[in-house]
Amino acid sequence: MKKISVLGSTGSIGMQTMEVVRSNRELFSLEAVTANSSIDLLEQQVREFRPKLAVIYDESKYAEFKSRVGTLTEVATGIEGLIAAATIAEADTVVTSIVGIAGLIPTYHAINNHKNIALANKETLVAGGRLIMSKAKENNVSILPVDSEHCAIFQSIGCNKKSQISKLILTASGGPFRTKTKEELNHVTLADALNHPNWKMGKKITVDSATLMNKGLEVIEARWLFDVNAEEIEVCVHPQSIIHSMVEYIDGSVIAQLGLPDMKLPIQYALTYPNRLSMQGEKLDLTKYGTLTFEKPDTEKFPCLKLAYDALKAGDSACVTVNGANEAAVELFLNGKISFMDIPKLITSVLEKHETINNPTLEEIIEIDQWARSLTYELYKKRWSNC
Ligand code: NDP
Ligand code: MG
Repeated sequence: MKKISVLGSTGSIGMQTMEVVRSNRELFSLEAVTANSSIDLLEQQVREFRPKLAVIYDESKYAEFKSRVGTLTEVATGIEGLIAAATIAEADTVVTSIVGIAGLIPTYHAINNHKNIALANKETLVAGGRLIMSKAKENNVSILPVDSEHCAIFQSIGCNKKSQISKLILTASGGPFRTKTKEELNHVTLADALNHPNWKMGKKITVDSATLMNKGLEVIEARWLFDVNAEEIEVCVHPQSIIHSMVEYIDGSVIAQLGLPDMKLPIQYALTYPNRLSMQGEKLDLTKYGTLTFEKPDTEKFPCLKLAYDALKAGDSACVTVNGANEAAVELFLNGKISFMDIPKLITSVLEKHETINNPTLEEIIEIDQWARSLTYELYKKRWSNC
């Protein structure tokens, strides 16, 4: 039986992980669950799965949550609570499905406590890739990708030799604004951005998918997961989201993984690898699609993708900066403070002021992240007060 702790169990990936567990109760036991502030959902999960520990990160919700669950489970809060869930003795695998850099510290502690990682929280690798991968090696733990593109690459590599890969081809749906003109992008709304054509996800990643920053973050994630350079990672827009990504080898062979867009598959594979489990639900019938299409991404219309590549080429702390500025800018956009095209503008301004360092420590990563966020808010306030 695999014993798992799910960080961010009340989110989109967290809830789909619960579905995988629910369908295979004899294979998985849930040892810890965590939420930021969703106490209703977290309480339901406690009642259904009876984990040893439930963590409500928001300290203002702690007392109410604790009184609701009584003696059903241990309850903790704050960053110490998240670390306790990430390192709980009973679990062998931690699913990291917190959104944003908030996942970095718990993931770091999980690895140092020899937990295998099923990684959804890409921001952890974007900001701390070098550190996290070296800690994983040092502690002999595996980091298996939950992100569908990286799961597809992982499957397409299979038993092939990594030294014979010529490039990774990450597919991208193109998001809800793929066919819009540059001028039209100045007028899109938050509701438009949250209306993703193929995937139902949390709000932050849905906005990232609309700006193509999600693909940029995935390029950086792939750099660390598969130890390749920026030049060996290509992005290809494939609006049907059926081919989840591909690997090209030195002899020109391209191996891909296909499937319907459903995150339960990569979640389940990360939890059962090297085994596969049968899964209920519709299977892929390519004749229903008839045509699969591919195009090059337009980085003039979607500058965020280029910003992520630029950061990757510049060095480690530039990736922390892009990630922090993006998180702050997306929050401003979600709160109706800035327009869609202000997101890349703010990130560009922050990156311009950053001096890159390589191989930052955990403390330095957190410091740089804070700096990038503060500067993003400062730049926004300056522009706003000048209007
Ligand atoms: P959601 O916003 O749906 O869920 C986020 C989860 O993290 C929730 O449980 C939330 O709690 C918790 N959380 C949020 N902020 C904090 C914080 N500061 N401290 C502790 N917990 C926090 O996100 P998604 O599930 O969509 O995405 C999660 C991660 O997986 C992201 O990194 C994303 O990029 C990645 N991913 C997601 C995919 C998807 O299909 N959704 C696909 C591939 C990758 P609460 O419910 O209380 O707010
Ligand atoms: Mg993805």
